[in-house]
Amino acid sequence: MKKRAESFRRTQPPLKQNRGASSTRKDEAMILPVVAVLKEIYEKGRDYLWPKPEVCPCCKASRLWGHGFVLAYFDGQLGGVYLRRYRCPQCNSVLRLKPEGYFKRFQSSIQDIRASICHRLKSNCCQGGFSRTREGHWYKALKRKAKAYLGDAIGDDLLQAFDRLCQMGKVPVSRSI
Ligand SMILES: [Zn+2]
Repeated sequence: MKKRAESFRRTQPPLKQNRGASSTRKDEAMILPVVAVLKEIYEKGRDYLWPKPEVCPCCKASRLWGHGFVLAYFDGQLGGVYLRRYRCPQCNSVLRLKPEGYFKRFQSSIQDIRASICHRLKSNCCQGGFSRTREGHWYKALKRKAKAYLGDAIGDDLLQAFDRLCQMGKVPVSRSI
């Protein structure tokens, strides 16, 4: 009997369906991308001066409370990075700030992921900077998503599909449709 390699199947935590902000559960924070330099956040830790949103994106209440930090990991950083959280006392939403340029639940920057896809399309091999498994997942997910959202019209131009999906507010390389 042959043994199948089942490890490496998951490199990311299980994805939950994104149901939108209105039904954000208590334990699931809303992600708010902000302009911030990752290196600086890493170096300053909890002392980093995060911007505070003026209103709650959920109910527009104008008062938000600090709600601690959450540790997150990104490529290129030696350790975890503390991301600021806020809580809205009116609707109980939890907001989590995150540097711009990263997809939700992805450690690699959008730019790096795009470069990897680009390289693969041109040379039909992986870039090498990331794990082969991860790059393979991105590529497969993108193909699947491009077909689902853009149909056959997009053809083989997966890079264009990547950009179009981004413009549509989708994560082009996530497994969920
Ligand atoms: Zn609110």
